[in-house]
Amino acid sequence: MYEFINIHKNTYLMESPAKTGLYISEGKDAYVIDTGIDKDAAKKIERFIKEKEAELKVIINTHSHADHCGGNSYLQEKTGCLIYSSDLEASIIRNPVLEPALLYGGSPYKEIMNKFLMAKPSKAKDISEAKLPEGFEYMGLPGHYFAQIGVRTPDDVWFIADSLMGKRVTEKYSFSFMYDVKAQLETLEKLENLKGEWFVPSHAEATKDIGDLIIFNRENLLKDIELVFSLLKEEKSIEDLVKEVFDMADSKINHTQYVLTTTTIKSFLTYLLQEERIAATFKGNRLLFISK
Ligand SMILES: [Zn+2]
Repeated sequence: MYEFINIHKNTYLMESPAKTGLYISEGKDAYVIDTGIDKDAAKKIERFIKEKEAELKVIINTHSHADHCGGNSYLQEKTGCLIYSSDLEASIIRNPVLEPALLYGGSPYKEIMNKFLMAKPSKAKDISEAKLPEGFEYMGLPGHYFAQIGVRTPDDVWFIADSLMGKRVTEKYSFSFMYDVKAQLETLEKLENLKGEWFVPSHAEATKDIGDLIIFNRENLLKDIELVFSLLKEEKSIEDLVKEVFDMADSKINHTQYVLTTTTIKSFLTYLLQEERIAATFKGNRLLFISK
C-alpha cells in the first residue's frame, strides 16, 4: 500500500484505497490526480515526487469526495501548487462542509464531519482555466457525483475516478454511492467508447480493457435499483428502506454508512420516479413511496 507503480511511460499510480495518479513531464514538473484521504497520503506523494527530483505544479481532482482531495491542503501549503477540478466540484473542494451537509440534508453533526466525509479546504479552481501540457485531456463522468471528471495523461492513461467500481468495493458495501442514476447510465455508455492505453478506476485494478467492468457496474447498479423497487410493493418511507437494506445485508449501521446509503437510496427513488415506476405520497404526514 502507498507505493508508486510506473504504469506507462511517465505516468504512475499510487496503490492506496483511492488511487492517486502522477505524471512527470520531461521538464520534471509533476501533475497529481487526486491526493488521497489525508496528510499521510499527501506525504507519500510528496516523498515520491522528491525522489524523482520533480516539482509539484498542479493537482487535478476528479471530484470533491474527501478520499480524493483530503491531501490537497497539505500539498498546496507546502508547494503553492495549483488545484483544478470541474467548476462545481472545485466549489465543494473550497467549501468542504458542503459534502456532509449534502449527505445529511441539513446542518451536519459531529459524527459525520469526519475525514471520510469532509476534507480540509483547499483553493481549487475551474479546470477550464487550466493551462495543462499538451496531451492532457479531461471529460465529464457525472453520476457517482455531480460533475466528476476523468483525466487522461499525455501517456494515454485515463484516470476514471469512481465512474467504475471494482467488485471488491461493491461487495463490501451494501450499495455503491450514487448521486444521479440517469447521468451514471450515460457515463457508462460514454466509457464504452473511450479509447486509451490504460484505465485506472480509483477503487479497482488498473486495466487495459474496461469492458467487463462496465458490464459489471451497469448490472450491479440496476440490480440495486430493482432491490429497492421490490421493497416498494407496500408503502415505505426512506427510513424504512434504509433499515431494510441494512437488515438484509445483516450489517450494523453507523453514522457514515447511514448518510451515504440514505443519499444513494434517495437517488434511486428519484430515478424510479423519473421512470414513472413508483409514486410518492404523503400519509399521516409521512413521505411514502410505492410501486405502481
Ligand atoms: Zn467518490
